[in-house]
Amino acid sequence: MKSGSRNSCTHRVGFGMDVHRLVEGRALVLGGITIPSPVGLEGHSDADVLLHAISDALLGAAGLGDIGQHFPDTDPRFKGVASLSLLNRVGALLEQEGYRVVNIDSTVLLEKPKVAPYTNAMRSAIARTLGIQPDQISIKATTSEGLGEIGRGEGAAAYAVALVSSR
Ligand code: MG
Repeated sequence: MKSGSRNSCTHRVGFGMDVHRLVEGRALVLGGITIPSPVGLEGHSDADVLLHAISDALLGAAGLGDIGQHFPDTDPRFKGVASLSLLNRVGALLEQEGYRVVNIDSTVLLEKPKVAPYTNAMRSAIARTLGIQPDQISIKATTSEGLGEIGRGEGAAAYAVALVSSR
């Protein structure tokens, strides 16, 4: 944090969103938790759409770019990687820059399966990874009411906002 800068502020907000396609033969990993499902999210990493949105919200709040810049999907090191480990690195980057997480709010958009039974486990996994408390993380889930690509079960989306403060 450049404390002497005229633009210095104590709180900053960030936004992130992500979309991944649902395909057969992949595990469905959301918020770091594997959910029983006949289809899973396709991507270079484990394609955890929720953690990608949250990571982008955190990076955005800190003005540190996006996960595509930090973890390019052309880099073989990130092939099949657990997105919790990417989130861990995002948390470390923020800490390095002198930011701490105030809270995260997020919404997963997925037709099925139901996400609600798993949100507490996701909050715990994310909290552990970022070194914060589960009550600093909110995860909401909704469907697309059968409308569009998500409604047809072709994919999932996630949106997140994060508030960070400088030490
Ligand atoms: Mg992604």
